Amino acid sequence: MTNPAPLKLFNSLTRQMEEFQPVHAGEARVYSCGPTVYNYPHIGNMRAYVFADVLGRTLSFKGYKLTHVINITDVGHLTDDADAGEDKMEKMAAQNAQSIWDIAKHYTEAYWADVKALNIRQPAQWTIATDFVSQMIAFAQSIADKHCYELDSGLYFDVSTVADYGRLARAQTEEGEGRIETVEGKRNAADFAIWRKTPPGEKRQMEWDSPWGRGAPGWHLECSVMSGQVLGFPFDIHTGGIDHREIHHPNEIAQNQAFCCTNGLDRAANSGANIWMHNNFLVERSGKMSKSSGEFLRLQLLIDKGYHPLAYRMLCLQAHYRSELEFSWEGLGAALVRLKRLLMAVEQVKVRQAELGSASIVPSETAGWTLKQVQGDVGGKFQPFVARFDEAVSEDLNTAIALTVLEEVVGLKKVDLGEKLALIAALDAVLGFGLLDLNRTDLRLRPKAATITEDEIEATLAARKEARAAKDFATSDRLRDELAERGVEVMDGDPLGWDWRLGE
Ligand code: AMP
Ligand code: ZN
Repeated sequence: MTNPAPLKLFNSLTRQMEEFQPVHAGEARVYSCGPTVYNYPHIGNMRAYVFADVLGRTLSFKGYKLTHVINITDVGHLTDDADAGEDKMEKMAAQNAQSIWDIAKHYTEAYWADVKALNIRQPAQWTIATDFVSQMIAFAQSIADKHCYELDSGLYFDVSTVADYGRLARAQTEEGEGRIETVEGKRNAADFAIWRKTPPGEKRQMEWDSPWGRGAPGWHLECSVMSGQVLGFPFDIHTGGIDHREIHHPNEIAQNQAFCCTNGLDRAANSGANIWMHNNFLVERSGKMSKSSGEFLRLQLLIDKGYHPLAYRMLCLQAHYRSELEFSWEGLGAALVRLKRLLMAVEQVKVRQAELGSASIVPSETAGWTLKQVQGDVGGKFQPFVARFDEAVSEDLNTAIALTVLEEVVGLKKVDLGEKLALIAALDAVLGFGLLDLNRTDLRLRPKAATITEDEIEATLAARKEARAAKDFATSDRLRDELAERGVEVMDGDPLGWDWRLGE
């Protein structure tokens, strides 16, 4: 049995790979910036949570007791990440003449549905920003004297009061790129509001009393407070999309430094977290990802077109989380085929195991299976695969390689099938497809626009099969063409045995 590989993660703060050393022995505490619930998440947003999920699953696999927190931003995020624009939530509520609380509830539930559909595990806690407002005020009060100043529009954080401001973004070399001084009276262009006062004569749907007047907390303040409150400073890992590396996370770090009275960022722990990790973007060239573009790319659109949501998970895992990933329907189709192939191979293993009656050692709760356990449970033939899988995920979550190792394991011949299934379950618990609980027909979704019923397709296919058996190829071809006209592709040569597919 080989020793477990050291878990190495890329820390955006140092721009280096670092070995994971937990703050609390045996534990991993992770905070992920959650969505702003003013609209449906697009699939790019969901890439951030697939990544955080794989990170969490890997930490569990490596034997750490995971505490994962994801927040729900239901107040405070402006239309511009720097300090300009309107509150995204208030704007949406005004546009739709709806209560902001109803909007928050609706889109939080929609986000949770996507989380579930993508097999993203539930975190230990969802922190809802509006539940933490009194703690936010207390946090702001504790740093106000030394680090903040008040303007008519709110309480501002003076970034010159902390050492190494902007190191995460490497902003000092870019001279504050992307920052515009939009608020009169700010001392430094990068200063940001931690409390926004409601302008006189206005009433916001979400506002609270504070020592600086009625108003609402700033978005950056929320994450500092929720992460510190629940996980304690310093915690292990903070995640988010790469856009957060530029403004949101540098601002969180500045607040954390102020709150914890820590010095410069040569020591990562002074930032509030030891490791800052960022997923790169999912991009779509024609701009359909933008939430303002009408029909944008949300998970439901993929489902409506007949793509199982786990095909999107596959698409994400085929790429490294730090690489930009370009979305295309062809790419998604290929990911779906790969998933089907994997699932069918696993189904065959299950069938053969049942036929042979070999003992099953798959535990009912596979999510809790650690590397150590699986090393103990499977024989020597499997060990090189276990080691390679471990090395892959331990190398900054190289899921692309890990996937190929899983596929190799599924294809192994002349091995104990009970052990093989156990290993598949353990590796799958890291990648998160739930292969042992899926059936191949689960992956065949009806596109919403399809008019033909499954019964009609099956009946025509049965007639065609008879025609072929009778060597009546003219009838067989005619039936195939009829189906094609109605958007059903017959896949005769399909090695998957997938007999038909509804076209778009
Ligand atoms: P938001 O709801 O805008 O706060 O975003 C939720 C999460 O999605 C954040 O971690 C963002 O950094 C991330 N994100 C936004 N757009 C993309 C994208 N196109 N690809 C990957 N992650 C994204
Ligand atoms: Zn955040």
